Amino acid sequence: MPVKAEAPLVMDDPFERSLDGLAQDLPEIAEKREFILRGGQELIDEWQIKPEFFDDKSRVVFFAALAERNDRLNESEDRSGKSYKEKEFIADAVTMLAAPHSERMDELRKVIYSADLFDESTIERAYDKYTNKQITAELQKALDEGMLDDIRKRMGVNKDNEDPFELRVLNIGQRSTMYGMRPDPPSGFLSLPEDHPNLRQYKETTKDYEMYSAGIKHNTEDFLAATGKHSVPVAWVTKGGGETHLNLPLPTAEKLLYGDEVLLGNDEFVARDFADEAQATLEHEYAHTQGGLAVDGVSFGIMAEECRAELMAGNKMGYQDAKGLLGIDIPALTGAQPLRYMESHEKGGDAAEFYTLFAGKMGIQRTLEFALTVPDGYLSDERPLQKRVNRYLGGINGLEERLYDANPAWVDERIESWAEGNYKRQSVGQWLALRKNMNGLGFVTDKMRDALTRKRTEHNWKPY
Ligand SMILES: [Zn+2]
Repeated sequence: MPVKAEAPLVMDDPFERSLDGLAQDLPEIAEKREFILRGGQELIDEWQIKPEFFDDKSRVVFFAALAERNDRLNESEDRSGKSYKEKEFIADAVTMLAAPHSERMDELRKVIYSADLFDESTIERAYDKYTNKQITAELQKALDEGMLDDIRKRMGVNKDNEDPFELRVLNIGQRSTMYGMRPDPPSGFLSLPEDHPNLRQYKETTKDYEMYSAGIKHNTEDFLAATGKHSVPVAWVTKGGGETHLNLPLPTAEKLLYGDEVLLGNDEFVARDFADEAQATLEHEYAHTQGGLAVDGVSFGIMAEECRAELMAGNKMGYQDAKGLLGIDIPALTGAQPLRYMESHEKGGDAAEFYTLFAGKMGIQRTLEFALTVPDGYLSDERPLQKRVNRYLGGINGLEERLYDANPAWVDERIESWAEGNYKRQSVGQWLALRKNMNGLGFVTDKMRDALTRKRTEHNWKPY
């Protein structure tokens, strides 16, 4: 009689394997293993998630948090609107996280983006049509000759570790990219005779500018229609098919290459500002081409990624909300120092390491919520799921409140000692108002203001 082999049935389950790998760095994962596996399997089945999904450690951190939430919801007796909203949140987040690695990718992408999805080849044709080959080549030469040297140095990038990317200057651009290019009238404009050479020249350059600007506007409308985009950013990076492109509108590229020659509307100091702004734009986008803290696009981790790009580019432009959250509020609420991490790591750090460290400090749930919270500029009708998720989580202030609740006495004490050291500073009130009203950072700011007021009363000090 043949002997039936009783070999143990070993299933190599990628989810379980990746989870056990993560548990070595995060004790929280080991503690919740059973619930995460139970809640996660259902999500894997329903979203038809492919095994490759689990190759990335940061994705596993986010997925583990969603799986835990799913299990808790399944076990809960609560059938109120609150639990319905939580269910919706889990579904939205899993959809955004899993879409690129799901058998249901096409269907899921349609839910993530409200715009009609254009097929890749149509979009590629539009990019080709508007690529300015000559200016692209000129700018590429300038990059090779040192235009990116400063940021390469700041990021620790050299010839050996630079991620390859292709530059693409496009004959498009929104109005703001042309600021500073309209000629200024000559002095004494109104009293100059009609045939004065300065006046003639002014009229000619103005006509040139208007034709240029009308051309760009026309191209931009056509480009948007062809690609299904709603607007053209100041500059942007596209990744796909193993390639990275750094896309720059023509006016920005010309400011970088020709400076004063195209910045006709300004005295040299203002022209310098516009040229510096173009340089900061270029550097910010370059940072996006080198590594990154966003995971699979803009749905997860864009807050940290924009902060990283700003930090690497020398902190000249926007994203004040992201910078305030990572630079001041998160350190105050948790003791974690995400900006210091970025500053001390090649290319500003690695996503898998960054989110694992983050989770070690504040837990997988807050890490998931942090990764899903976007800077204000990202809330767009083009991405309805992202918008709904951010509303549900209460944005930056909702996240801050939950971080605070984990350790209120500890945070209060730190804010108190900050106030003790700062209550005499006249300008601190204005700074707090700016944080709250312009940058939307209300939660920690309110606590700082209250503590400041208390200290001022206590020391009987009044701003003069
Ligand atoms: Zn950016």
